[in-house]
Amino acid sequence: MNAQDRALTEQNSLFDGMDFSGIEYMLERSALRDLIPGEKLLQPELANHYLYLILEGELRVHLIGQATLEHVTLAAGECTGEISLVDGQNPSALVVAVKPTRVLAVPHDTVWSLVDQSHEVARNLLAIIAGRMRNDNSALITSHSKRKQYEHQATVDTLTGVHNRRWMNEAFPRVLQRCAIDALPSAIMVIDIDHFKRVNDTYGHLVGDVALKMMANVMSVNLRPHDLLVRYGGEEFAILLPDTRIEEAKSIAERLRTMISSNEIHSEDQVFRITISIGIAASRKNEKLEDLFGEADRALYQAKESGRNRVEIAA
Ligand code: GH3
Ligand code: MG
Ligand code: MG
Repeated sequence: MNAQDRALTEQNSLFDGMDFSGIEYMLERSALRDLIPGEKLLQPELANHYLYLILEGELRVHLIGQATLEHVTLAAGECTGEISLVDGQNPSALVVAVKPTRVLAVPHDTVWSLVDQSHEVARNLLAIIAGRMRNDNSALITSHSKRKQYEHQATVDTLTGVHNRRWMNEAFPRVLQRCAIDALPSAIMVIDIDHFKRVNDTYGHLVGDVALKMMANVMSVNLRPHDLLVRYGGEEFAILLPDTRIEEAKSIAERLRTMISSNEIHSEDQVFRITISIGIAASRKNEKLEDLFGEADRALYQAKESGRNRVEIAA
């Protein structure tokens, strides 16, 4: 080992505050290893029998399992592989070189001999492991809250704040199944704005967006807490009404239709209103969401054909 590598080894956090009486013994039993960028040093599938002291370069530690979104970076003076050293199991993380990296591979039994000989090494090793646990915990917490945030973003429509189609595909079948088990009737409503292209053409897309927001808002404040509202397309919404008979669904639909058509939308100095058409279908036992949705969609088509601004029930 050259003088520079030796100096870098002595600077490792494992040897903080210690004289180097035991280091010759360790150096004789250890080997230098050079890694190229992208090379894996540790992987959970492979047993590890070394503690690696980082002399130069940079390693990235990808935490496995729940925290796959997170990683920690290790640089000269730090070490890796200490968890397998202590518990004798495969590595808990994937460790990859990000830069050309030189490490000193110290066999586990050699590290344990050092621990036996030196209180400082034992103390330093504990400090390294405690630091790692702290890092892993905070990475886990960050990753958990980020994942929650991604999940939320993935199921909520950013324009209107109501749930999106992806969420509908998850939530609607579950609720339909629940109603079927409890022998409760349920109904679905599909809603489409009438001549919405004209609204965009006349007042502009941004005003069209305002109309969409108004509509989502009017519907969500006027539904019962257990009704499920989604924006599943551009200007298309769907509502699942659990524990609801078709006649009741019809009167809810009429109420929403009237409310939306009486709501004024302002664009500069102009005021206008929009109307909606609604198709409704009652769920049958063991009916798939696609089939129920298809029936309501055909009823919506009927409502459009019959002149719009109307509610139609599936035949
Ligand atoms: P119909 O009565 O037959 O439904 O006529 P329509 O003009 O509403 O026709 P259609 O439902 O096919 O048109 C949908 C239009 O909705 C097309 C598109 O310009 C508009 N649109 C879709 N998504 C958005 C959006 O996010 N913002 C705005 N402003 N417009 C949208
Ligand atoms: Mg449409
Ligand atoms: Mg439309």
